[in-house]
Amino acid sequence: MRPTDLEIFCTQMGKCSDYVYKHKNNLYWSMLDRVYTKRKKMNERIPAIPRCGSGVMPTMDIDGKLYACPRWCPFAIGKNTISIGDVRTGDYFPDKARFIADDSNRSAITCHEHCMECEYEEQCAFCPAGCYREYGELKRTMHICPIMRIQSEAAAVYWRRIDENI
Ligand code: SF4
Repeated sequence: MRPTDLEIFCTQMGKCSDYVYKHKNNLYWSMLDRVYTKRKKMNERIPAIPRCGSGVMPTMDIDGKLYACPRWCPFAIGKNTISIGDVRTGDYFPDKARFIADDSNRSAITCHEHCMECEYEEQCAFCPAGCYREYGELKRTMHICPIMRIQSEAAAVYWRRIDENI
């Protein structure tokens, strides 16, 4: 039976981790960064802090319209987006910028119980603009879930070997 993509990913993460371990004195691989060994404790609150620059990286599109970051531009997520201003007309919509900044933070956008209780929540990547494209609202996507678990476990094994020098 053909291995699933996740099985292949898991096997390759193991092989790459072994290679990085063998060359640990002059090789760094961000996929195994120690941040991926973090585990959120049960009942630990998700902080109201941003995961990225959504809302605080104003970006101007070619037509002069302003967006909360490059990922909010129509070329990235399509026409169903939120503009926060327009340099041609001098318009600026602080309420929209504030909405994106506030509702993009981890505690506001995380609404799946699965994510709220997840020990990998802090390192689990998501893009608020991508979430908005997916749901038409700022609600965290979960596509990366199995990948994040495999990567975090590979990082935990890697750093255990480093710390225990095995
Ligand atoms: S998507 Fe999966 S790994 Fe990420 S926070 Fe949610 S439950 Fe955890």
